[in-house]
Amino acid sequence: MARALALAASVAGRTRPNPPVGAVVVRDGVTVGEGATMPAGGPHAEVTALSEAGDAARGGTLYTTLEPCCHHGRTPPCTDAVLRAGITHVIVATRDPNPLVDGGGVARLRDAGVAVEVGDGEEQARQLYAPFAHWVTSGRPFVTAKYAMTLDGRIATRTGHSRWVSGPEARRLAHRWRDTHDAILVGVGTVIADDPSLTTRLGNTEREPHHPLRIVLDSGGRAPLGARLFDPALPGETWVATTDRMSTDHAAALFERGVTVLTLPEDPDGRVALPALLDALGERERTSLLVEGGSAVLGAFFAARLVQRLRVFIAPKIVGGARAPGPIGDPGIATMDGAIAIEGAGMDTVGADWLIRAELYDPWPPHERTRDECSPVSSKSWAASAR
Ligand SMILES: [Zn+2]
Repeated sequence: MARALALAASVAGRTRPNPPVGAVVVRDGVTVGEGATMPAGGPHAEVTALSEAGDAARGGTLYTTLEPCCHHGRTPPCTDAVLRAGITHVIVATRDPNPLVDGGGVARLRDAGVAVEVGDGEEQARQLYAPFAHWVTSGRPFVTAKYAMTLDGRIATRTGHSRWVSGPEARRLAHRWRDTHDAILVGVGTVIADDPSLTTRLGNTEREPHHPLRIVLDSGGRAPLGARLFDPALPGETWVATTDRMSTDHAAALFERGVTVLTLPEDPDGRVALPALLDALGERERTSLLVEGGSAVLGAFFAARLVQRLRVFIAPKIVGGARAPGPIGDPGIATMDGAIAIEGAGMDTVGADWLIRAELYDPWPPHERTRDECSPVSSKSWAASAR
C-alpha cells in the first residue's frame, strides 16, 4: 500500500477532476503490475496496473488507494476490470467519497466473491482525497489558506516589506503545494505590492512542475497590465475574477495578453462574490484552490467560512509595529467567543520555521453504501446537481 500511495502522490494535481489513485497488483509476493491515474479520460490506476499484470493478475491481490469505481464516467467501471482479471483479493485504503460510488464498488466486488479489505493507509488517503471529496459533494473546490507570518503575527514590516518572512525550506514546500493544486489565488493588492508570477518552481527534482491555474481577484480592474502574471510567456493559465466595474478596455487588454476575464456578481461591499467564484471554478472542474493572500483576500475567505484547510508558517522572528499587517484582514471577529476555533492542529518544523497544519472541516460523507447501487449518471452531472 505504501507503494500505491506513493504512485497516487506522484500524480496529485495532474488528474482533475479525477482523484489521484495508485494501484499495485501482487501475485505470490511479487509485484506484477502498477499504475497511477492518467489525466481525465485516460485509464484509471487499477486498469493500468491490471493490464500491465495481464494473466499474472489471476488469483492475485490488488492494492488500491481508493475504492474501485463502479459507475460509467469517462471510462468504464474499474470493478469490471478487476473481476475480468481474476483478482481474488482487493485491499483498499479508503472508500470513494463520490456519492455515485461510496461503498458500491466494494459491495459489487464482494457480491462477486472477491475478498475486500478497507482501511490500510486510510488516514493518508483521506488527506490526499479531501479536495476530491469536497468537490464531488459540494461542487466547489476545496480551499486551502496558506500564509507565512512572524512570531508576532506580521506578514510584512510597517513599510510593507515582506521578502521573505519564512526560510528557504518553507518556501520550497510552498512550491510543492502549488504543484499539487488545480488553482491558486491572490488579491489585486498582492499583485500591486509583490508582482508575483505564481508559477511552480521545484528546484532540482526529476518531477516536471505543474503550474496551477492562477487567479487574481480584482473587482475594479486595478492590477497593472505590465504585471508578471499577465506575461503571455508564463507557463499555464491566468484568470482575472472581476465584476461589471472593470472597464471593457481593461478587459480587452487582458484578453489580448491571453488572460481569461471572469465577470462575476458583486458581494454587498462591491467585491467579487466568493461563493460565485467557487461555483464557477467547480463547474470548470477545479477541485482544489490554494489561497495565498494577502490579508484582504484571506479576511474575506475566513469571514465567509470558505476555508477548509489551513497551512501556516511561523518564522522565529519579530518585526513589531502597530501598522505592520497581520495575515487575516477585515472584517474580522468582534468578540473572542466568536473566534474561529481550530481543533486538532498539528505542528512540524520546516527549516528554521514552524508549520501549523489544520483541517477546518471533514469533507467525507458520513454514510456508506453496503449494497451495489451504482448509479449510471456521470460524477460531473452529480456535482452540478449537488449545488
Ligand atoms: Zn475507476
